[in-house]
Amino acid sequence: MNEGAAGGEARSVYFGEEHALLRAQVRRFVDEEIKPQALQWELDGMVPREVLRRMGELGFLGIRYPAQYGGAEMDTLATVVLAEELGRSTFSGVAITVLVHTDMASVHLFNGGSQALKDRFMADVVAGRKIVAVGVTEPGAGSDVKGIRTTARRDGDSYVLNGAKMFITNGVHADLYCIAAISNPDKRPSQRLSMLLVEKGTPGFRVGRALDKQGWRSSDTAELLFEDCRVPAANLLGEEGQGFYAIMRNFQNERIVIGAMAVGEAQAAIEITLDWLTQRRTFGEPLWSRQAIRHRLAMLAARVEAGRQLVCHAAWLVTQGIDATKEVSMVKAYCGELVNEVMYACLQFHGGMGYMRESTIERMSRDARVQSIGGGTTEVMLEEIAKRMR
Ligand SMILES: Cc1cc2nc3c(=O)[nH]c(=O)nc-3n(C[C@H](O)[C@H](O)[C@H](O)COP(=O)(O)OP(=O)(O)OC[C@H]3O[C@@H](n4cnc5c(N)ncnc54)[C@H](O)[C@@H]3O)c2cc1C
Repeated sequence: MNEGAAGGEARSVYFGEEHALLRAQVRRFVDEEIKPQALQWELDGMVPREVLRRMGELGFLGIRYPAQYGGAEMDTLATVVLAEELGRSTFSGVAITVLVHTDMASVHLFNGGSQALKDRFMADVVAGRKIVAVGVTEPGAGSDVKGIRTTARRDGDSYVLNGAKMFITNGVHADLYCIAAISNPDKRPSQRLSMLLVEKGTPGFRVGRALDKQGWRSSDTAELLFEDCRVPAANLLGEEGQGFYAIMRNFQNERIVIGAMAVGEAQAAIEITLDWLTQRRTFGEPLWSRQAIRHRLAMLAARVEAGRQLVCHAAWLVTQGIDATKEVSMVKAYCGELVNEVMYACLQFHGGMGYMRESTIERMSRDARVQSIGGGTTEVMLEEIAKRMR
């Protein structure tokens, strides 16, 4: 394999031997157990439960969690490895199904849940026996988290939930839902929200509808409805009224993960396109002999490498306990836009075949589109960076 970005070797001063080992394991799993079957999952609109359980068995769903729950107790950089390799699978719908479970949803249970809640659920979460979703976004509030309208009214030993959640990944098939709602309406907006754990089957909670998407076809996305849904007060995640801060904290992890996934996707697209360019001939020459094309792909490879190093650096800052909000926002803004630019160029270099449903790059282009939206839009990320520039 070639060296550097086009060869897909993730070299960084931040990775050690255990990261390399994990990378090799995930890559083998992707090649043997995801790629051969994932086209069917795209048609089914979901990743089968057995696959998630298998990932649990292999230790991929508890990379950062304690050994007592079956976790591997690794660091944020290990999560970067998982996300990058899943992105590299070319099936981002599978990647996001897994990464929402491991790094965007279950973290609320792990960070905020009581010991009793964690003892009850975390081992199943790490084993892939219970799948987790996180519901922050609503029909009327996405970027503006303080604009959430779902309420959680305290009544005796319960909270009574009313409202709707929108665009929730794993929404149809999850078992556990970490839901943001207003518990303290009289407080100022940042002190109003709490996170609550809602089990599938709780009366008053139902999936409104499964949503039909441009890409990420194997990831299930749903609207959730809560109508006088009574949740035990013991299911409170974190302190009452502190949900906004929990969401903001977890966004840091989420955005690193989405950035790493985007880097993996972009890397795979470049490799696929390089293959195509060496084989496809026009006017008697392979496309790779055209300097205009070669240079454009080379520059994209350089930018993907820059994105990778930024992701690693931000992840390393997090492992050191350093506030990396600015760098993480840069990761999300930069990688979310870059993966789209890479897909646009790579599809273009495939010519008509790039537009055909049967080509990998066509699916990857559709999948990439949401990367500048989900988990924090580019515009909102740029505001976060700008706020910290002066
Ligand atoms: C496939 C998919 C899966 C998702 N999964 C989940 C999930 O599992 N859980 C969950 O809670 N959410 C999830 N989301 C929601 C996602 O995080 C939101 O869509 C995203 O945060 C944007 O919110 P919005 O869609 O309401 O857009 P809006 O906030 O309405 O923004 C619309 C546009 O306006 C721009 N904009 C907004 N405010 C400003 C501003 N101040 N200045 C300049 N521009 C601005 C935005 O950048 C965007 O371009 C998912 C979304 C998708 C599409």
